[in-house]
Amino acid sequence: MVACAALAVAVLVTVGAGAVRWDGPDPAGRPVAAAGVAAPTRAVPVTPAPARSTTPAAPAPADITFPPRGTGKFRAATLRGAVAGRAGELLRYRVTVEDGIDGVDVERFGREVGAILADPRGWTGAGRWRLQRVGPDDPADFTVALTTPVTRGVLCGDVTDHYTSCRNGDRVVINVARWAGGVPQFAGDLDTYRRYLLNHEVGHRLGRGHELCPRAGGPAPVMQQQTLGLHGCVPNAWPEVDGAVFTGPPGQYDDPVPTGW
Ligand SMILES: [Zn+2]
Repeated sequence: MVACAALAVAVLVTVGAGAVRWDGPDPAGRPVAAAGVAAPTRAVPVTPAPARSTTPAAPAPADITFPPRGTGKFRAATLRGAVAGRAGELLRYRVTVEDGIDGVDVERFGREVGAILADPRGWTGAGRWRLQRVGPDDPADFTVALTTPVTRGVLCGDVTDHYTSCRNGDRVVINVARWAGGVPQFAGDLDTYRRYLLNHEVGHRLGRGHELCPRAGGPAPVMQQQTLGLHGCVPNAWPEVDGAVFTGPPGQYDDPVPTGW
């Protein structure tokens, strides 16, 4: 969700130690770096996380716990999945989980990610893309990383945002705080939110920018920043609705990003 890459109105911004970030809308309305831009591969010192000022949408499942900041090291799922999709460009991805997150088995998380990305309602459904999960030593076009909130800030190039997720270059960064707790406007439907979150961020990796709610009462496009607000639409996790690719007008809302995580 959050963070997402924004293809429109991108601006090069110099960040910290010489790193360059491509600022644009992100899933949660936060800046995201452009593809190809190297981001730190390990957590580096950042300002302490602010005191939590918001209440999570729902209590985090008891089986997932995490510190504000993990180790910055990741373990990768090892199993290679089948190619999903019948036609289109093939992209390979690996799946990783940051050390310090407890209650998330990396192989199980890898299977969950694989199932979402292979769903016929997803990005592979229309024949434009094929996706395959690969192991840690295989060549990959992008990585799906489950991170702690502070590491999310580092990898996304915005250390002030510990709430949203992002896509930064070839890294799809999923904030475990949202994976575990969702957002209020999904009314406790964590499964739908997780599917939305992953599809939204991967959508950025596939070159998609943000979209607006096209009709009040109808489904939200998957590229709408549903983590921050629905704007009259109802939650929707999938790129396709009723068997067809579903989109809204290009653009994004000026929703504030909650503080804390
Ligand atoms: Zn986005």
